[in-house]
Amino acid sequence: MQPGQPGDHGSGPIIAWLSVPDGEVDRTDCALAAAAQDFGHLVHSRPAAVVRPASLADVSAAITFATEHGLPVSARGAGHSPFGQEQAEGGIVLDVRSLPPIREVDGTEAIVDAGARWREVLDLTLPLGLTPPVLTDYLELTVGGTLVVGGIGGAAPHHGTQTDNVTELEVVTGTGEVRTCRPGDDLFDAVRGGLGLCGVITRVKLRLVPAPPTARRWKLYYRSLPAFLADQRTVVRDGRFDYVEGQLILDEGDWTHMLEAVTYSTASLDDLRFDRMEVEDTTYFDFLNRMEEGEAALRAEGSWFHPHPWLNVFLPDEVAGGVVAETLAKTRREDLGGSGLVMLYPVRASALHTPLLRVPDGTLVWLFSLLRTGKPADPMENARLTELNLQLYRQAKALGGTVYPSNALPMSPADWAEQFGPAWESLEQARRQYDPHRIFGAGQGLR
Ligand SMILES: Cc1cc2nc3c(=O)[nH]c(=O)nc-3n(C[C@H](O)[C@H](O)[C@H](O)COP(=O)(O)OP(=O)(O)OC[C@H]3O[C@@H](n4cnc5c(N)ncnc54)[C@H](O)[C@@H]3O)c2cc1C
Repeated sequence: MQPGQPGDHGSGPIIAWLSVPDGEVDRTDCALAAAAQDFGHLVHSRPAAVVRPASLADVSAAITFATEHGLPVSARGAGHSPFGQEQAEGGIVLDVRSLPPIREVDGTEAIVDAGARWREVLDLTLPLGLTPPVLTDYLELTVGGTLVVGGIGGAAPHHGTQTDNVTELEVVTGTGEVRTCRPGDDLFDAVRGGLGLCGVITRVKLRLVPAPPTARRWKLYYRSLPAFLADQRTVVRDGRFDYVEGQLILDEGDWTHMLEAVTYSTASLDDLRFDRMEVEDTTYFDFLNRMEEGEAALRAEGSWFHPHPWLNVFLPDEVAGGVVAETLAKTRREDLGGSGLVMLYPVRASALHTPLLRVPDGTLVWLFSLLRTGKPADPMENARLTELNLQLYRQAKALGGTVYPSNALPMSPADWAEQFGPAWESLEQARRQYDPHRIFGAGQGLR
């Protein structure tokens, strides 16, 4: 399509001249409106163009165009961000999913395009008896999308985050240059957990481990929060389960605490103090894919498409019990929404090695997630829920907490500097080198 032709709905004269050699530049209202949406449904920043790259040359061309014209660029994976992190007001959204698929296994490593969803990675590796060691609870997220935030799940106490299990990255930097980086390279450390501020990840090499055939999954229920926390500490410290998470369930005004523990072999429950339990044996894949059914139900009833003012914070072990008890005491059903969830689980800090994944000091850190569902067409209510996020974030920060950076939370550059702490200066240094024109970071408030 040429600038000025029918169907060209570009928002400015400059963007009309953007072209890429192999893929597509889409300036239709429909594409721009879709790129201004995400899972959060809270932020709607409309880009001037959506680029669907069919090659690395397309990614470079879009980036070079943006640098020449001072436009923001955001990569978009599955678009499951809660607060416009993958959006770029007046700029270019690069749809990483449209890059040609690369799906290979080489020995005990998978080589995939960054737009691959984790379910697609499993489609590749499980028939070979292999699996990535850490999966997110939801498999429809893209590899690139989770690697820029960390990628955490119940296997993290053993294997760290997904960013700890990457062996090579191909990145198109903010100068349009294609770089391959590995452990020891500054770009490798600037990209993993680096919010997409230094470049667009295009190809990834992932560490694989043998996949177990089956999983035994226990749900251990506790009336007492202290007993639940004590057992979570015990089992994460001694590592008896392959996977540990936890949920706090609000039922008619009372909280029940559920420890979710999975083993791929055997594990003893004898010393644990739960009140009741459920147990289920499944295939390994069915366990990993356990959100599929829930997603279908939420889609059917509609709340999958409602706003999602989610908050994820890391708490230091010493304050976790207090902060959680206080938060639960003041959290009502309407503060979570009908399908909202609260999650809580500890991770051994010694398993976490990604320099930009900032967690509190101590040997154990707790991921505390308030996964709220807001109301469509009720901006006041959604602003109230976002304000609750802000309050908990401030409280956590004052007590030595950090964020897991996938949140509906307005963060200023000063907040980010505090979040990254001593790593902030090295991230800024990497940005000066790899994104000197500051085209990335619009969706994080960091442009
Ligand atoms: C239902 C659900 C369940 C979740 N469960 C978990 C979980 O268990 N564990 C966990 O860790 N997280 C979880 N998350 C959070 C999720 O990991 C993050 O929101 C993630 O960033 C979303 O990935 P995405 O593919 O949707 O990326 P997008 O939302 O499209 O993008 C996210 C960010 O990554 C950037 N980005 C995307 N692709 C690239 C790329 N190739 N190169 C550079 N930057 C890129 C974007 O610009 C943006 O800043 C969950 C989210 C949802 C909605």
